[in-house]
Amino acid sequence: MSKRSRFLAIAIDGAAASGKSATARILAERFNLLHADTGAYYRMVTLFLLKAGVSASTPAAVASVLNKVAIGTVVSGRRALLCLNGRTELDADLRSARINAHVALFAALPPVRTFLLPYQRSQVDIARHNRFAGLVMEGRDIGSVVLPYADFCFFLEADSATRQQRRAKESSAGSRDVILSRDRMDATRKMGPLACAKHAVRIDTGQYSLEQVVLFISKRISGCSNRG
Ligand code: C5P
Repeated sequence: MSKRSRFLAIAIDGAAASGKSATARILAERFNLLHADTGAYYRMVTLFLLKAGVSASTPAAVASVLNKVAIGTVVSGRRALLCLNGRTELDADLRSARINAHVALFAALPPVRTFLLPYQRSQVDIARHNRFAGLVMEGRDIGSVVLPYADFCFFLEADSATRQQRRAKESSAGSRDVILSRDRMDATRKMGPLACAKHAVRIDTGQYSLEQVVLFISKRISGCSNRG
């Protein structure tokens, strides 16, 4: 458990199956942090838009639907869950093959990113309000765009074979994930691409166990700053 008294903001970015979620979950537990999984937010928005019958090829229709949505947060344990019009969705529905296939297409659209940007930043206040010691936020553009002034910023990576193996183990039948094509779309979009922020510490999670990655990050958090 952390002895820090100052509010702690940690950004963790990386490609699909780079180890972000497992790492963020353990850090949240260890340091009493609110855990914001922004990939789940993009998945929620994707499911909502698909249910509303709009396609990623019509950004104006996407913007019009999002303009009318009420956005909120439910804190469940240490997780911050996005609510749209008062509803959250089950993890299984957010991680279905359909959402895996569509999420990067919607996530590339400026109206979607603009919709989620202030919401993601507002999670800092939600964490304070709920008396967490800080916030750990994972995604693709957290260190570069969403929380560039986070106290600590990490970029997790692993070779594609390792990531594909991890995802195959996690995925249930019917939730096939096309991680390499998602990564390509995420890395090449114009707005908020998957990127390692200049001040981020890169960690190759393919070389280390989850425990070793968590220990490395925990030592940095407990001991020193990662900004030079
Ligand atoms: O983290 P996860 O793989 O669940 O993210 C699903 C998708 O959400 C990503 O492939 C990406 O298209 C989008 N995403 C994003 N920006 C973030 C987090 C996720 O574009 N900060």
